[in-house]
Amino acid sequence: MLKTLDRPDCELVEKAQEAAARAYAPYSRFAVGAAVRSKSGAIYAAANLENASSGLTICAEAAALSLANSAGDPDIDAIAVVGFSFTDGAAGASRVIAPCGSCRQLIAEAAQRANGNVRVICCNGELSCIAVSTIAELLPNAFGPENLAVSRKWPALQEELRACAERLIAIRKKQ
Ligand SMILES: [Zn+2]
Repeated sequence: MLKTLDRPDCELVEKAQEAAARAYAPYSRFAVGAAVRSKSGAIYAAANLENASSGLTICAEAAALSLANSAGDPDIDAIAVVGFSFTDGAAGASRVIAPCGSCRQLIAEAAQRANGNVRVICCNGELSCIAVSTIAELLPNAFGPENLAVSRKWPALQEELRACAERLIAIRKKQ
């Protein structure tokens, strides 16, 4: 139940539910909204984006994580996911959904990147059933950047990326 969550988590779940309304889901007719909250407190919400070439479909969770990253605010501490079939009447919104395997992997990487665990708030469409867990519970012993020692290398690489991008932008501004 929504009432069992604290105010910030309620807001996160509500943003995920609202994002589901913007799904492009003509094939599955299953709308998913996801909202991630970064440690800064900002919320990034997105919906699933399907494609006639089924394998290209982008999950709402992946889109929301990408939004946070693109905003330069990738250290997330929670993600809410709401999903429902919009052509099955009330029954279509009664079951709790959880992130697919691919999205669990993406969330696990975001958690390692943020040096912490990420809470995952899984909801049904009407928000009457809510299951709160962590990504470590949903994907135990995840393979991730720690295995490749990326957490040590990425800060330096990120500096290199920024310096390179600044040089390119400076060249463009001189033209
Ligand atoms: Zn997914």
